[in-house]
Amino acid sequence: MSEKFKALMIEKEDDTQTVNMVEIEDNDLMEGNVLVKITHSTLNYKDGLAITGASPVVRSFPMIPGIDFSGIVLSSEDKKFSEGDRVVLNGYGLSESHFGGYSEKGRVKSEHLLKLPENISNKQAMAIGTAGYTAMLCVLAIEDHGIKPDDGVILVSGASGGVGSVAISLLSDLGYNVEASTGRLEETSYLNKLGAKTVIERSELSEPSRPLGKERWAGAIDSVGSTTLANILAQVSYGGAVSACGLAQGMDLPSTVMPFILRGVSLLGIDSVMAPMQLRERAWKRLSENININKLEEMTIDTSLEQVEVLASDILKGKVRGRVIVNISE
Ligand code: NDP
Repeated sequence: MSEKFKALMIEKEDDTQTVNMVEIEDNDLMEGNVLVKITHSTLNYKDGLAITGASPVVRSFPMIPGIDFSGIVLSSEDKKFSEGDRVVLNGYGLSESHFGGYSEKGRVKSEHLLKLPENISNKQAMAIGTAGYTAMLCVLAIEDHGIKPDDGVILVSGASGGVGSVAISLLSDLGYNVEASTGRLEETSYLNKLGAKTVIERSELSEPSRPLGKERWAGAIDSVGSTTLANILAQVSYGGAVSACGLAQGMDLPSTVMPFILRGVSLLGIDSVMAPMQLRERAWKRLSENININKLEEMTIDTSLEQVEVLASDILKGKVRGRVIVNISE
């Protein structure tokens, strides 16, 4: 019999959800061909939704939450991975239909795992986490659209959050002139340190939008959705583009077709969960080249499995700044 280990477990009975620390063993894990010792996970907005039950992220109970993890391979039935390999997994149904990262061990499918680049430690991988990897997907989409630093200012909404903080850091280091939109103007010096040249109050973008406004930004990365995204679309310059990945304000999009048909603006949809492996590899390679470790440390706090439930409700209230690493085991 294998040794017992710790995991956070969400259970649901008669519509009531509970979250408990439990002890399980290898046999309790779900199917997969690679067994991983999980060293770190993170707290993303979606983890907040899953743990609090605010949105139906979890599709089958009981469920170990945690939409991502980094770890070390303990054993693998697939020759692509060997004992000792350092790996990362983002999404692919973790915490939805497959046990997630808030556990000292995980068993997963080899086709969902990615070997970590040499220069990114397990802890740094989860400082980046799904929020940071999604920020990179957003940056890649902006670049692929052909938007260059000289084209003008790039707006990042939800700026003090996880996706926002990493997006500002990446864009500014790539030479873009970044404007940050935040509801926390008290975080202006934090946002400036990450690389935002200018900071605006998010209320400027939260009222119902006119079909078109003054052309302000060459592009944008939006993790907020709703009227914020509508206002951004209405103020992106001719031929510009917006990477849209989130719904922190809401899932609605009260916009018109005017930005698309009169200004040729593009709305670039970003999904990290089912993104194909080739795109993931590209994103993690670029993260290994472009992530600024000093800025990453500036935006990160550490927590433990025991503390994660408290922070889960904080992140939904917009109270968490930057990124949260969940230390699982060293
Ligand atoms: P965070 O909570 O860390 O960041 C969200 C930020 O949005 C907050 O920090 C806040 O920034 C801003 N915000 C919060 N509430 C509101 C509101 N009511 N109106 C306007 N702005 C608001 O979350 P993450 O960075 O982890 O995720 C951001 C979003 O991206 C989430 O919706 C998440 O689900 C989504 N996401 C999607 C992915 C995908 O694959 N498509 C992957 C990862 C994340 P500030 O205080 O600076 O205004």
